[in-house]
Amino acid sequence: MPVPCRTRFVVVAPVVAALIALGCVSGPGDEAGPGGEGDRPAPTATTPAGQDLEGTDTPQEFMEDVGDAERVAEAYWGAQFKKSGLEFEPVSQLIAYEREGEVDCGGQALGLNNAAYCSAGDFIAYDVNWAFEAFRQVGDAFIFYLLGHEYAHAIQARLGIQKEFSIDQELQADCMAGAYIGDTERQGALKLDDGDLKELADGLEAVGDDPGQPWFAEGAHGTAKQRTSAFEEGYEGSVEPCGLS
Ligand SMILES: [Zn+2]
Repeated sequence: MPVPCRTRFVVVAPVVAALIALGCVSGPGDEAGPGGEGDRPAPTATTPAGQDLEGTDTPQEFMEDVGDAERVAEAYWGAQFKKSGLEFEPVSQLIAYEREGEVDCGGQALGLNNAAYCSAGDFIAYDVNWAFEAFRQVGDAFIFYLLGHEYAHAIQARLGIQKEFSIDQELQADCMAGAYIGDTERQGALKLDDGDLKELADGLEAVGDDPGQPWFAEGAHGTAKQRTSAFEEGYEGSVEPCGLS
């Protein structure tokens, strides 16, 4: 994948700083099942590791972006719930892991090159090396998308949304990730540079299913085109097109 121009997501009004647990936290996980959700691997590396075009993709920046993305998602959904008169409980933990099996969700080891929301343990866990590599290759917008998508699964769990087919669950999460990014930008709390949307499109391209994947297959997420349009619906139209109620 070509390396796009690096652009920055700027969090204009950072919400209250929260400490996130990045590092080895053992997962109290439970029940990943097929719903333990596989968020497709990012593209295979074509960029030599260690390449840093503008000196902006350091591990420190990555950690800051992950933290920002989580705080923004938490504030966003907190406000949405409040608007609907619902209690909101933030996701309990954000766990970065480096080894297969380091985090367990319902007796199922989380694998490498993945990120997942584990409903029983109510945590989001991600392979930190994979996410960092995607951050370097695709850009920081991808981290906002990734966290936004996993956070959306946590919101679905809170709302008791369980679609019959995983693809519907996934495309709704993409729509919700779009709503969180679009609305936060409209509120002026997040500023997207021109290249950010391109980064997001690249990221969605990378995480789409192969076109031949049957749409009802277990674990299906949607093709790049389906995922991009679900994201765009939310990005442009907020949560309404996502069909949460
Ligand atoms: Zn997902």
